[in-house]
Amino acid sequence: MRTPRIDIDIRKIAHNTQQLKKFYGTKKIEITGVTKLIGGNPKIATVLVDNGIQILADSRIENIKRMIKGGVQAQYLLLRTPSLSQVEEVVIYTDISLNSELKILKELSKYAVIHHIIHKVVLMVELGDLREGIMPLEIDNTVKEVLELKGINFIGIGSNFACYGGISPDINKMNELSSIAIHLENKFKISLTIISGGNSANYNWFQSSKSIGRINNLRLGESIFLGREALCRKAIPNLFTDAFTLVAEIIETKIKPSKPYGEVHQNANGKIKKFKDKGEMNRGILAIGRQDVAVSGIMPKQNLSILGASSDHIVIDNTKSNLKVGDTVEFSLKYKALLRVLNSSDITKNLIN
Ligand SMILES: *Cc1c(COP(=O)(O)O)cnc(C)c1O
Repeated sequence: MRTPRIDIDIRKIAHNTQQLKKFYGTKKIEITGVTKLIGGNPKIATVLVDNGIQILADSRIENIKRMIKGGVQAQYLLLRTPSLSQVEEVVIYTDISLNSELKILKELSKYAVIHHIIHKVVLMVELGDLREGIMPLEIDNTVKEVLELKGINFIGIGSNFACYGGISPDINKMNELSSIAIHLENKFKISLTIISGGNSANYNWFQSSKSIGRINNLRLGESIFLGREALCRKAIPNLFTDAFTLVAEIIETKIKPSKPYGEVHQNANGKIKKFKDKGEMNRGILAIGRQDVAVSGIMPKQNLSILGASSDHIVIDNTKSNLKVGDTVEFSLKYKALLRVLNSSDITKNLIN
């Protein structure tokens, strides 16, 4: 079978989806499935839908188009607040978008009217992580204007954590979001259907909180696909953390010195590296490199270590593993590595089970 490839265990992703739905469902939190990690792969997205996910969310409109084209039946939510240059596509291809700028909302309104569409919007509130969101003191003014916009249905508010600032969505932050929701409903005599507290980083809050207030939605990617929460990257009980396996192939093995010899200058990554002389050793080369994967985010499953990498090669210590040309090495992946691999067209996506 072709290499490099990523084996994707559909059954494990289905299991994780079911478990998370059940877990968060115990306190009536609905899960939005976040597909940016899988680049909107329609086959994988279908697994989420088949296991009860009704809203699929992606940061890129191209990924959403891919899923629509692939026949995936869901409501689509645009996660990254829209660019001014893409508002027309947003109203055409998505049902809901997260927003934080009135200028954009007005454009969404304009195109919603042109296309005779009602576009739903969730307003993001800044609660300290300092990526997207309206400052809480500004939210009333924004809502007042949004409610006037034709073609726009203001359905909820949301917050995001642990992305830019690494700030935790703790009980205080979630209570603040709940209070804002209640305040808006009372002040404007409206009812909000989505109060979206955050992402895979909200696991600890959910687990340790008796009362979750008005929060009724989380947007989950990492926990579904990697079985981990996103604050400390701890495995979530009863979930699979190994649905994805990267497979690369050995193209050279030789006994060579452990220390490069000759005059030392920069390597392919612009670094001047220091090496210890450990004598001769069994070295292997894999046909995969930095262009394909964030090398610091992959962990070999066999008993071997990565010595270094350039754009198209990874060099390994093959002393204990003693692999031969044509053999393969399997890696588990962290989020950042998986993101690049799944969005790379050079790596075959191999769905199993
Ligand atoms: C990526 C993203 C998510 C999903 O985050 P995970 O940690 O993968 O669950 C949720 N919300 C927004 C706004 C995002 O950009």
